[in-house]
Amino acid sequence: MPPILYDHSELAADFNKDEPRVNWHDETLWFVRQKRDKSVNAIPEWEQLRELASNIKDHTLSNLDQYLIDFEQRAIANGIHIHWAADGEEHNEIIFNLIRSNHISGIVKSKSMLTEECHLNEWLSDRGIQVVDTDLGEYIVQLRKEHPSHIVLPAIHLKKEDVSNTFHEHLNTEKGNNDPQYLAESARITLREKFIHSELAITGINFAIAETGAFVVCTNEGNADMGAHAASVHIACMGIEKIIPRTEDLGVFLRILARSATGQPITTYSSHFLRPRKGQQMHIVIVDNGRTRQLSKPDFRSSLKCIRCAACFNTCPVYRRSGGHSYHSAVAGPIGSILNPNLDPRENADLPFASTLCGSCSNVCPVKIDIHGQLWKWRQVLIAEGYVKGSKKAGMKGLSRILSSPSLYRIAGKIGRRILRLLPWIVENKKLNPWYKQREMPDAPRQSFRDWYLNNQREHKR
Ligand code: SF4
Repeated sequence: MPPILYDHSELAADFNKDEPRVNWHDETLWFVRQKRDKSVNAIPEWEQLRELASNIKDHTLSNLDQYLIDFEQRAIANGIHIHWAADGEEHNEIIFNLIRSNHISGIVKSKSMLTEECHLNEWLSDRGIQVVDTDLGEYIVQLRKEHPSHIVLPAIHLKKEDVSNTFHEHLNTEKGNNDPQYLAESARITLREKFIHSELAITGINFAIAETGAFVVCTNEGNADMGAHAASVHIACMGIEKIIPRTEDLGVFLRILARSATGQPITTYSSHFLRPRKGQQMHIVIVDNGRTRQLSKPDFRSSLKCIRCAACFNTCPVYRRSGGHSYHSAVAGPIGSILNPNLDPRENADLPFASTLCGSCSNVCPVKIDIHGQLWKWRQVLIAEGYVKGSKKAGMKGLSRILSSPSLYRIAGKIGRRILRLLPWIVENKKLNPWYKQREMPDAPRQSFRDWYLNNQREHKR
């Protein structure tokens, strides 16, 4: 069996080597979380909106087969070509064939986490076709040959100095000029040329409406619109879970999406596409890639309600201090740790453990996914199916035995305090005690809280 390629804790340890960057990453995302809080607290009906969104998504998932067929029929009637892809490979092949049959050279793409999940850029690049990502954050990470580290803020792991160096290297901007306005303007000028000369625009889809066959793409930069309106071929890609039943449901989702993501009342551009303009080809690729498998799992099916707002990322103490790349997958953060084990349980068995299970993710989720509950359930599934290291399994079993027996717990506490006092080199050995790697061990107290409490009570009774 080939070795497992990545491990969250090792990648996080790498990210943690640069402490000031980790602190800055943590504070920046917490700032976004606070913006979200202010925004949602400003509307008294927030909890009702969450409930409604959750119910609409539950209903849609329970009737997904019918809604997908309705959407397909109406989209075809509107002049859109519909393609079905069972997995990422088929998704990429469909796009490749469309590129070839239309003899296309210039391709621009706006943010689509599905194309990241299918590794579209690399797949096309291996066949000699280059795609330009036009979302500013994605463009920056593409120039650096990195992957997005966050689904809404793809370059959040980078500082303006990093962007300045990258642009100096690739766009020939002034060395050392870190002015965000100047850097954004330089990217805008370069990307404008790409839009003008593009023949194909690839976009994602935020919401596909079964009732009308229309779809909505949300961006803050207008890059999806620019691409789709300039190119003669528009391919929009969506996972099967992007369906919503009716146009009137859109109001609920547009209100919760941007508030949860960035604290804005609505994304700057919420663009509705109904049919191709005259002379344009419009295609939609509808992708499964493991989603029906997830739908068949009662414990995890509600993860398909996700609208990719990233609120659970911004609030997660583990994500904020370990960075998106430590999740080694297209969708990082708490929701990625539920979705990715379904795609490949062996490669992603580490991810559900990258959580404190504090529940903050579930509290902020606008579609009320029980995220921390599902992370906990994935741990049990992965352990039962043998995807978790034997040492971790044995450790957990031992700990469970100790924590469920008060007398064993007291004995373990006594031994632990003794070792800490008399043989500190054992606990300070990073191999024997990986916990010590990033932490100071406390001074061993003379007695446990329980002993102190009992003594105290006795003294008071005297
Ligand atoms: S799980 Fe919920 S909070 Fe996280 S990205 Fe999806 S919708 Fe947003």
